[in-house]
Amino acid sequence: MVFHPLAAIATTPQAIQLLHPLSKQLGATLYIPNSLELSQTNVSCYQGALKNHLHSIWSQHRAFIFCLASGAVVRLVAPLLKDKASDPAIIIVDPTGNYVISLCSSHQGGADHLTQLIAHQINAQPIITSASHHLNLPGIDLLGLPFGWQKGPGDWTGVSSAIVSQKNVQVIQEQGSKLWKQTLPQNHPFYFGIPEIGENVAFDAQVWITAKKLSFSQESTIPKVQWYPRALWVGIGCIRGTSQGLIASAIEQVFQKYHLAPEAIAGVATIDIKGDEVGLVNYCQENQYPLLTYSADILNTIKVPNPSSVVREEVATASVAEAAAIYGSNYWFNDFDNKDKSNLEKSLLVQKQIIKSDNQAVTVAIAQSDLEYTGRAGSIYLVGMGPGSLEQITPAAKTAIHNADVIIGYGLYLDLIKPLQRPGQFLQSFPITQEKKRAKKAIELGKWGLKVAMISSGDCGIYGMAGLVLEEFKNSNWDGKKPHIEVFPGITALQAAAARVGTPLMHDFCAISLSDLLTPWEVIKKRLEAAAIADFVTALYNPRSQTRQTQIIEAQTIFLKHRNPQTPVALVRNAYRQDETIIVTNLGEMLNQTIDMLTTVLIGNSSTFLHQNWMITPRGYNKGY
Ligand code: SAH
Repeated sequence: MVFHPLAAIATTPQAIQLLHPLSKQLGATLYIPNSLELSQTNVSCYQGALKNHLHSIWSQHRAFIFCLASGAVVRLVAPLLKDKASDPAIIIVDPTGNYVISLCSSHQGGADHLTQLIAHQINAQPIITSASHHLNLPGIDLLGLPFGWQKGPGDWTGVSSAIVSQKNVQVIQEQGSKLWKQTLPQNHPFYFGIPEIGENVAFDAQVWITAKKLSFSQESTIPKVQWYPRALWVGIGCIRGTSQGLIASAIEQVFQKYHLAPEAIAGVATIDIKGDEVGLVNYCQENQYPLLTYSADILNTIKVPNPSSVVREEVATASVAEAAAIYGSNYWFNDFDNKDKSNLEKSLLVQKQIIKSDNQAVTVAIAQSDLEYTGRAGSIYLVGMGPGSLEQITPAAKTAIHNADVIIGYGLYLDLIKPLQRPGQFLQSFPITQEKKRAKKAIELGKWGLKVAMISSGDCGIYGMAGLVLEEFKNSNWDGKKPHIEVFPGITALQAAAARVGTPLMHDFCAISLSDLLTPWEVIKKRLEAAAIADFVTALYNPRSQTRQTQIIEAQTIFLKHRNPQTPVALVRNAYRQDETIIVTNLGEMLNQTIDMLTTVLIGNSSTFLHQNWMITPRGYNKGY
């Protein structure tokens, strides 16, 4: 959801103090009266009455954040509001910063979304009154946006109100992603598909997700709405010099004849020698359709119902429109090319139609793809969620999680961040061992056009998922730009563990993972030896699992060769999680305690000492260097 340009309005010093950092984080312009001077970037002073100023900046902004009494805000915005499809989001932050209120344009304007985002940033309570939010249901008017579906006709208010009243809502989905169904709450009001004969169900509203051109009659007794997934690929063949007008009208005619919706067009496919056909190129540009082109050799591999020997003579393939439509619909998204290649032609929906006018001719065929074209550039956020509790996640990471369409992670971590999830967001949970699968899924969805947050515990770049995702990207010849990737750091286990016991990391330290699943044990041993000799404070990750019992014993033996058995050692298990345990012991006795995969082991250096059970490594000030 895009809220920019975003305006924040503060009229008192207290309000400025609250909104100034927030505006910076959100990229908002902060407007303040010129009596309260503050010369900073992103701050703009206004003269005269706020009412007049608001009027002058109203149409330039998609969202407004006020730090004002709600009554004043209502009076200010009331004369400017028009309708919910075009009004900006209106948010109120109370002057103490304890509450954030979503006032207007909760769904389409994104006010609910922005309210939650701000609440995460300033640790406030979001006040959201829209019914679908509380039922944990996605707004029906937002449903298709992540997938690039086009919004069709219908009574959106009527259907929304049937949904939030938990009435019986029939969903007929013929194309498009089913991902949105995965995270519906159990008591959702949807009935999927057509009832069996004899099944006695009556519906109070209908949602169509289809590429068909429907016409909802005015007399219909129940409210209906339609989304168009962009799943149709139009194959085009034409003689050189065919006009854009004829191409457009040929496509329109064929869509009309077959009751298909042009809104559901994903793109256009043709033979490579038509890649510079002016009319075709302009038609695609004007409609923002991708134009896919294939060589005669590729098109020749496709079985088509209407091959033509005349066409073969001319361009060395017996079919252009049908073959290109079939090929495009199956292969527009490369990563899906491991599909069964034997029956590609089943995607053909409309066989070739020839439309002639004067000396020109256009051939049109239509094929349907399993996976709709989103038309969006995806993003992958590699997010470190810190050790466990929500307070330990950075505001930037919270924002990334909140903005994502899909959140991917190991089940336990997804449970921990559940309170950050917003309705309509999809969760993809994977078992702990399936890191590669997780990374591949994130990449696939990101390339397809979704915003994906990939969650790791602690820091995502420290024994986390971020490295794996980037490695996989490298293997897939990623251009470094699309999809966009951003890394959000988190508090790693060694920091969390250290904070719980004092300041053991005050001098040079290192981290060593004892897991020899991905690193040979001989290499790990060498690193342990080196760390012990160099007197590094050492954090041991992955110290012991059910199948790896001996590594921690060898690690202790190595350290005992170079360090005193009295050296302080902290064993911090489940730091910042519910069943946290903290044990401060020493090198000689550490193995008498529970050490497992949920534990981080911190071994002090030769100067580390304990005071009242606080573990302290001196920085060196008292030595007087
Ligand atoms: N990316 C994570 C590390 C993953 S490796 C991070 O930056 O923290 C997994 C190991 O991290 C565990 O075996 C354990 O040694 C350590 N660990 C992760 N979370 C922890 C926590 N909350 N408390 C203690 N140790 C933890």
